[in-house]
Amino acid sequence: MKLVIASNNMHKVEEIKSILAGKFEAIYSLGEMGIDIDVVEDGVTFAENAAKKAHEILAVSPGDCAVIADDSGLEVDALGGAPGVYSARFAGEGHDDKLNNKKLLTLLDGLEFEKRTGRFVCAMVLAARGREDIVSLGIADGKILTAEKGMGGFGYDPLFLYEPLSKTFAELSADEKNAISHRRKALEGILEKLANI
Ligand code: IMP
Repeated sequence: MKLVIASNNMHKVEEIKSILAGKFEAIYSLGEMGIDIDVVEDGVTFAENAAKKAHEILAVSPGDCAVIADDSGLEVDALGGAPGVYSARFAGEGHDDKLNNKKLLTLLDGLEFEKRTGRFVCAMVLAARGREDIVSLGIADGKILTAEKGMGGFGYDPLFLYEPLSKTFAELSADEKNAISHRRKALEGILEKLANI
């Protein structure tokens, strides 16, 4: 099976390609397919947005390709689950990671460590012509630090403490993050369900 990754976020594309390496006949980014579409993410759940991205890209992809789409974000308990599906544009439409992190820190200012719980959530949808969508959810639990730590990753990674390794996601190597991340878990679910078809 050939696969198109329905994301314009190069960090996500790299992570998905690395986790799925060797599992598909070929894996293409939107750029490699010559597809230039920015899908409007107006769903109220991660799964809804992922399905929308997968189907809009499937409609313009070659007939022999399936499409995989990821919608993901950070849920913070003290904020009632925000930023959630608004994670990318938490501080405004500019999708600015630095401003998003700054806003998160401001909102959590003064909150004690034990209450700074949250999770990365990833909904992954694999869509292909003539078959039902395969949907999978992956979750990684952690705590939101009071300052950024680490240079790797993207988005909220420098604020997200992964307690089993006592490091933020931004302090992990790409391979370390890809071994335990919400995206990894969601992709494993997709592979398992694909194997059972
Ligand atoms: P999406 O493109 O609407 O799915 O937006 C995802 C947003 O959630 C990103 O822009 C990040 O702010 C955040 N996010 C999702 N996955 C990760 C991750 O693995 N690390 C850090 N931030 C993430």
